[in-house]
Amino acid sequence: MAGGSTDIPDVPVVIISGPSGSGKSTIVNRLIRVCPVRLYKCVSATTRPPRPGEVDGEDYYFLTPEEFERRRQAGAFLECEQVHNLGHWYGTLIDELRKARQQKAIPVLEIDVQGAVKVRRRVPRVLSFFVRTPSDREYADRLRQRNTDAPEVIEKRLKTALEELKLADRYDYQIVNDDLDRAVSEIAERIAQWEGRGIA
Ligand code: ADP
Ligand code: 5GP
Repeated sequence: MAGGSTDIPDVPVVIISGPSGSGKSTIVNRLIRVCPVRLYKCVSATTRPPRPGEVDGEDYYFLTPEEFERRRQAGAFLECEQVHNLGHWYGTLIDELRKARQQKAIPVLEIDVQGAVKVRRRVPRVLSFFVRTPSDREYADRLRQRNTDAPEVIEKRLKTALEELKLADRYDYQIVNDDLDRAVSEIAERIAQWEGRGIA
């Protein structure tokens, strides 16, 4: 992972939040490929262990708690949070915004609602999306289907989901992820409009 200057680069930022199981990761991975505006998916750092198939430096930078804390103290994070009360830290490295700027791309942050509050305080130009499912039952169904978390972890994620849903109206747009293609197109179109190049 690259170094860690603490100066925040002057870039507009797209934020995608939403409860666990709403489909954020799936959406972001597809959005990066289809959006007419060049996007850069910011890889977050976390202290949670990798899920099967997750790759260090692609899905997350998987750090030890000590290394995470060292970087936090050094001011390397734009924001960081202990998400889901599971004891794991997650954070956006300032260095990722710099990489986006180098690539002349808009950084996309997939972060929780508290992280989004912090980013809005530090970054002047933000476009934010809150992804939700058609019904609240669906979060649990999708998390069980994803089959990556123990039942007690799913319970905690669902509790957090209810808290996150209360803050949905703070976002510029709420996106219902019933049909994946439609949800991705809707976000891509909003980003293109925001960037002043509407899609024909
Ligand atoms: P999150 O990142 O918000 O926790 P994921 O992207 O991991 O959510 O998606 C959770 C599960 O739901 C995954 O198994 C994913 O394949 C599935 N999923 C995502 N979008 C949809 C959709 N539109 N319809 C049905 N299942 C979906
Ligand atoms: P997961 O463990 O399912 O990958 O992610 C759990 C939660 O952490 C999700 O709500 C996700 O949006 C959030 N998250 C991931 N990266 C970051 C980050 O860098 N900062 C913050 N604040 N939250 C993050």
